[in-house]
Amino acid sequence: MKTAVITGITGQDGAYLAHLLLQKNYRVIGIIRSYNNSNLSKLKHLQIEDQLKLEECDLTDIPSIINILKKYQPQELYNLAAQSSVGLSFEQPIGTITFNSISVLNLLESIKIVDKSIRFYQASSSEMYGRVARLPITEETPMHPLSPYAISKATACWSVVNYRESYGLYACNGVLFNHESYLRTENFFVKKIIKNALAIKRGQQTELRVGNIDIKRDFGYAPEYVKAMWLMLQQPHPEDYIICSGKSVSLREIIEYVFNKLEIPLNVVISDPTLFRPTDIKDIYGDNGKAKRQLGWNYTLSFFDVLNLLIEEEVKRTKN
Ligand code: NAP
Repeated sequence: MKTAVITGITGQDGAYLAHLLLQKNYRVIGIIRSYNNSNLSKLKHLQIEDQLKLEECDLTDIPSIINILKKYQPQELYNLAAQSSVGLSFEQPIGTITFNSISVLNLLESIKIVDKSIRFYQASSSEMYGRVARLPITEETPMHPLSPYAISKATACWSVVNYRESYGLYACNGVLFNHESYLRTENFFVKKIIKNALAIKRGQQTELRVGNIDIKRDFGYAPEYVKAMWLMLQQPHPEDYIICSGKSVSLREIIEYVFNKLEIPLNVVISDPTLFRPTDIKDIYGDNGKAKRQLGWNYTLSFFDVLNLLIEEEVKRTKN
């Protein structure tokens, strides 16, 4: 039986990845910030909270990480913990950059000290690319981050490359584009639109306020994206991979699709300039060719297929 440690296990991806690894018969150790205050609702939703070993660990404190690695001797470590909101990173730039970069260095350094054979996955992000000269984004595209979150992820990404090249660690960056699910928190756009649309439909609110909806993003489905994380750590050599759908859709198209499907008039959508970000990427989509060829990762969903799944589940859960 293999042992995997997952940081950020209480988040969307942590929950789906833990579910996948349990299905593959792994012993899964989940890192949480605190036994008292952790929100285990996503793990409960997938009915896996009793099958995991949860450990409190401060990722800014290297001795705590070393203790976990020595205690459980994992073969794989998936680092998903991060302040993950681009919007919030403009409000909390120092906290975001400090935690998202130092925690990764601490994990890499701990692996180097305890056991260099532990395979390491880092949750990197398409946001690192920011302003690009041409699309689609590939593994070779130069980075030009446009937010404190993107800067933090770019720093962490280069730390992974550096430890791989300098010390021979099996360390990979999974560069994931936006991916959604029922487990997404409500501060993220797609979940916010579906929740608010249902509230308008039920007469619980009258309008939806949005920022710049003319930007385009490459969106996918989280339960499929976590499969690529696992595949990256099963290869003969560590490499970085772009994980995306390959197509972008505008936020306006998403609103129109959800509102039309729920038969809500679009005139209740109000543009609110206070919700615009200081800088934003206009359009971004990636090339998933390397992941498909080398990892055998198979992704065929259009984002409108994903929206159908998300609306269906949200309607079902709200009824219950
Ligand atoms: P999420 O739902 O926001 O989960 C983030 C996780 O990180 C939670 O478990 C959270 O723990 C933990 N965390 C946050 N701040 C922490 C801190 N200071 N100390 C320890 N743990 C902390 O994010 P996600 O959507 O699952 O994403 C997983 C990873 O992929 C993140 O690193 C994110 O930046 C990256 N990513 C996500 C996407 C996407 O579209 N979802 C795309 C590219 C990259 P608490 O429950 O205690 O808050």
